[in-house]
Amino acid sequence: MIRSRHVSVEVDLAVIRNNVRRIAAAVRVPLLAVVKADAYGLGAKIISQTIAELVNGFYVFNLAEAIAYDLVSTGRRTLALRADCEDPEDFLAHRVQPAVWDYPSAMRLRAAHPVLSVDTGQQRFGVPANDTTAIESILAAGRIEEAFTHATTPGQAELLRETLGGRAIVLHAAGSALLHEPRAWMDTVRPGLAMYQGAVRVHAPLIEVRETTGPAGYTGFTARRHGVILAGYSNGFRTGPCVVKGRRSRILEVGMQSAFVELGEDDRVSDEVSLLGDGLTEQEVAAAWSVSPQEALFRLAGMGDRLYRREVAPS
Ligand SMILES: *Cc1c(COP(=O)(O)O)cnc(C)c1O
Repeated sequence: MIRSRHVSVEVDLAVIRNNVRRIAAAVRVPLLAVVKADAYGLGAKIISQTIAELVNGFYVFNLAEAIAYDLVSTGRRTLALRADCEDPEDFLAHRVQPAVWDYPSAMRLRAAHPVLSVDTGQQRFGVPANDTTAIESILAAGRIEEAFTHATTPGQAELLRETLGGRAIVLHAAGSALLHEPRAWMDTVRPGLAMYQGAVRVHAPLIEVRETTGPAGYTGFTARRHGVILAGYSNGFRTGPCVVKGRRSRILEVGMQSAFVELGEDDRVSDEVSLLGDGLTEQEVAAAWSVSPQEALFRLAGMGDRLYRREVAPS
C-alpha cells in the first residue's frame, strides 16, 4: 500500500496505556502485549516502550520482528510464534522464547525455553490437542514450562485446560475476543486489538467541495453536495462511513488516489474528514468493509504518516 501525504494517522499513546491498564485491572493476570506486524501498523517500537512497565512481555510473529522493534531494550521477555531455523543463542540474546509444536524444534531450541503451541481448532499453528503422544514427547524434549493456544471460542480455551491443566505449566489462550470470558484468562492474556482500540484517529482535509449536478464520479453517484479527499484504494481505502466536523457522513466512491465524500451545507474546503476516530470505531469501519476490526485498523494505520500524542485529546 502507498501512504498518502494528505492523510494523517494520529496515535494517542495515552489511550493505549489506559487500555492496557484497564485490561490488566479487569483480568488480574499477566499480560503479553501483542505487537506483531508493527503493532497492527501503529509502530511497535514506540508502543512497546510506552507500555513496557504495564505488561509482562510481548508477543510477535518471529525473531526478526522482536529485533526490529528492539523489544529486548524494554527489559521484558518476548514470545515469538515462528521458530524458523535460528539457533537457541539468537533467541536467548534477544530474550525471545520460540513457540514450538514438533519434536525436532523442541529438541533444537530447548536452551531457549520454548513454549508449546497447541492447536485447539484453528488448524494452523500448533500440535493438535488430541495428539497426546506428540505433546508428551515435545514437553519432555523442550523441558517446557509454558503452553498456549490461539483460541477464538471459550471451548477452545477450555480444551487447552483439559489437555494440560493440573501440571506445572503456565497456560494462556485469550486474545481480545475472549477478554470478557473469565474462564479463558487462565495464567496470562494476549490482547492485540483491545490495546489499540480508540487510540487512533485517521483524517484528511477536503480539497474540493462541489454542489453535485447529475450523476458524478465513475459510478454516477448522486448527492446534494460532495467533496474530495486525497485518499484512494492505492492507500488501502474503501467506501464506508466517515465523520465531517463531528457529523456522520459517508464515502460515496473511492478512486485510485482520491475519494468522494457526501457533504452537508456547512462543509468547506480544508475541513477535516475523519476516517477513524471522532466517534467512528474500528468495528463500524470493519463492518462496512466486510473485514475484521484488526484488518480495518491495519489498513487505516497504513494510509498516511503517523504522528504520536501522549495526552488524551480533549473531547
Ligand atoms: C494476533 C494474536 C493475538 C491477538 O489477537 P487480537 O484478537 O488482536 O487480540 C493473540 N494471540 C495470538 C497467538 C495471535 O497471533
